[in-house]
Amino acid sequence: EGMTVKDLADKLEAKVKDVMRVILEQGMRMTINSTLDADTATMLARQFGAEVEVRSFEEEIVEFEEGVSRPEDRETRAPVVTVMGHVDHGKTTLLDSLRTTRVAEREAGGITQHIGAYAVELNDRKIVFLDTPGHAAFTTMRARGAKVTDVVVLVVAADDGVMPQTREAIDHAKAAKVPIIVAINKIDKPDSNPERVMRELSEIGLLAESWGGDTVMVPVSAKAKQNLDQLLEMILLVTEIGDLKANAARNASGTVLEGKLDRGRGPVATVLVQDGTLHVGDTVLVGTIVGKVRALQDDRGRSVREVGPSTPVEVLGLGGVPTPGDTFQAVEDVAKARQIAMFREEQAKAKSLGARGGRMTLETLQKHIAEGGVKELALIIKADVQGSAEVLADSLQKLGDERVKVRVISSGVGAINESDVLLATASEAIIIGFNVRPDRNAEALANREKVDIRLHSIIYNVTDEMKAAMAGMLEPVF
Ligand code: GDP
Repeated sequence: EGMTVKDLADKLEAKVKDVMRVILEQGMRMTINSTLDADTATMLARQFGAEVEVRSFEEEIVEFEEGVSRPEDRETRAPVVTVMGHVDHGKTTLLDSLRTTRVAEREAGGITQHIGAYAVELNDRKIVFLDTPGHAAFTTMRARGAKVTDVVVLVVAADDGVMPQTREAIDHAKAAKVPIIVAINKIDKPDSNPERVMRELSEIGLLAESWGGDTVMVPVSAKAKQNLDQLLEMILLVTEIGDLKANAARNASGTVLEGKLDRGRGPVATVLVQDGTLHVGDTVLVGTIVGKVRALQDDRGRSVREVGPSTPVEVLGLGGVPTPGDTFQAVEDVAKARQIAMFREEQAKAKSLGARGGRMTLETLQKHIAEGGVKELALIIKADVQGSAEVLADSLQKLGDERVKVRVISSGVGAINESDVLLATASEAIIIGFNVRPDRNAEALANREKVDIRLHSIIYNVTDEMKAAMAGMLEPVF
């Protein structure tokens, strides 16, 4: 929003008529209510010995979203956990057991609702669990720019060991730089072998603390509810180091976990309040939706007037259904909120119109490096055999130089799947397939998200292509 001549005079602490005189001397025709463009405002300010700082709307948005928070107001907040692991290793059972053992204890009838997340308590300390387990949900959120998880609990069944999705989960957590705690599950089973799990994990880079490494591993039984308190204690311990803080005194901000249209209640969003306090009556900007909070419902279905940081809550009263991963902010300036909502909508439209835009590709690598934004090239490697994947990871990693490091964030055997493409989206990575192809879902997702997939069958072709890309000598293909 431009400023008027009068606004500028106020800012300069000058008399309006003095500013008007300069304007007239310059031969410009204006009144005190005319809006100044950036150049004119700068020129006028200089005449009065001041500099005008011209901020773009984008800069204003960033400031608006980050708000102001004084360090002294920040207090410790509860950690937020995502449970991951191979199918059938016990993620859902673990989430259900924690919900029933740790929540219902205090209040009669305190049965938790499935609202997308819930809080448990251990010795008066809170831990929040996201109710959609798995790395797909985790990375989808991350691809949308949301960061909600403080620690990943990786469930590995002690009677089955490390499986493909165990590896995927580790890659996804590591790419997001989120610490991992391993829950070695199903130890009640006679054929369980926790040591084997520890050995297999050590082979892929997770060494147990008890073996001299730095990964916390807790043997549990989700079904028999064995050792669950110990798992919770470890979550608190590991996240304590991260020094998680929030400021309850500021306007609420956070991330949408779920959105749905409820027949009776209208649009319902589960949001995780990550900072600040959300109140009934607050005006909120959620993604591109502006609305007023009509009611709040906690994870036990109770109506609440307000909720603080690290609290999942259902929000009623929005004008539409938001998408998981959308950010939300409570705002005082409704006009500005509307403006930002419109701006975001335009951005989203521009994005969906295609144009490779900012997405990382081998052709645009040089440009990304030159513009200084890229210090690291992330790669995902899929090959037909383990040996080739390793050789490729090794030789590609060596191609990095002082400008850009090459980092293999995931390498494995088998067709390129949706999980690989999601990870590429969230990490701005390029996928290399060696004697493998993307499966149908992966291909569709890659097309939609404009993820660069390179297919090869000769190792030195892969390295040659990468060298050329890093030298900026790759011809664009259309
Ligand atoms: P998910 O796919 O990872 O969510 O796995 P589920 O939680 O659905 O569990 C898969 C199966 O393993 C179910 O039949 C569970 O009852 C069983 N299960 C989960 N945890 C345990 C456990 O600690 N011990 C035993 N014996 N079975 C378990």
